[in-house]
Amino acid sequence: MEALRVGGLTPMTTIDFPGKLAAVVFCQGCPWRCGYCHNPHLLEAGAPVAHDWSAILALLQRRRGLLDAVVFSGGEPTLQSALPEAMTQVRDLGFELGLHTAGMYPQRLKEVLAIADWVGFDVKAPWDRYDTLTGVPGSGERAKASLGQLLDSGVAFECRTTWHAGLYSQERLLAMGAALAAQGVRRWTVQGCRLPAQLMRNGAPVDQSFPTDRLKALRGLRVGLRELGAQAA
Ligand code: SF4
Repeated sequence: MEALRVGGLTPMTTIDFPGKLAAVVFCQGCPWRCGYCHNPHLLEAGAPVAHDWSAILALLQRRRGLLDAVVFSGGEPTLQSALPEAMTQVRDLGFELGLHTAGMYPQRLKEVLAIADWVGFDVKAPWDRYDTLTGVPGSGERAKASLGQLLDSGVAFECRTTWHAGLYSQERLLAMGAALAAQGVRRWTVQGCRLPAQLMRNGAPVDQSFPTDRLKALRGLRVGLRELGAQAA
C-alpha cells in the first residue's frame, strides 16, 4: 500500500487539538473545491509530497514525551486509504490522535473513529447548500452521514463552521446551529470567512456583521465565536 501522502507539517501547535500540544500532518488531496479554501496547494491528490511519511515517523519518534498528540488535517485526510494505517503507527508511538475532516468519506471515517481521540468536524453549510459551496453533487449527504457516524461513535468532537454571508443568511446559520444542537452536537464554533473576490457583491465585500440580538442567539446555542464577535454591529 502507498504511504500516506503529506503536503505539509506543523511540528508543534497548541490550537489544533483542544488542550494538547500537538503536531499537525497536512494530508495531500481533497476532491471538493470550496471557494474560500485556504489550502489550495493541498487539493491535488497527485501533487509531489512535501514530506516522506517515514521521515515524519522518525521525527515523531524523537518527539515522544514532548508532544501529546498528532492531528491529521488537510486537504482531506479521509481521502487516502493509507490513513488508518498511518494513524495506527502514530498511536503505537504513544501519541493521542486528532482528525480534521469535512466528512466526505463516511466509511473511512467510521474506520478511523475506532482509534481517534478527538475530531474537528467541518460543517460547511445547511446540507442542501453543500453542492453549491463544494462544487460536488451529493456532498451534503456525505457530510450528513459522517456527522451521524461521529455522533454514534462517542469520540469527542467539535463542529466548526466558516460562515460567509454570500452563500447563506444569518437566519439559516442560526437554524443550522439549532438543528445541530438538536442532533446532539455540544460544541460548535463559528468563524467569519475572509471572502475571495467571487463571493463579493458588486465588487464590495458582503456585510458579515452580526446584530447584537443574533450574537445573543448564537451564544444561546452555546457556540464558540471566533471573529464574528469582533464584527458585531
Ligand atoms: S473541504 Fe477543506 S480542503 Fe477541501 S476544498 Fe473545502 S476547504 Fe479546501
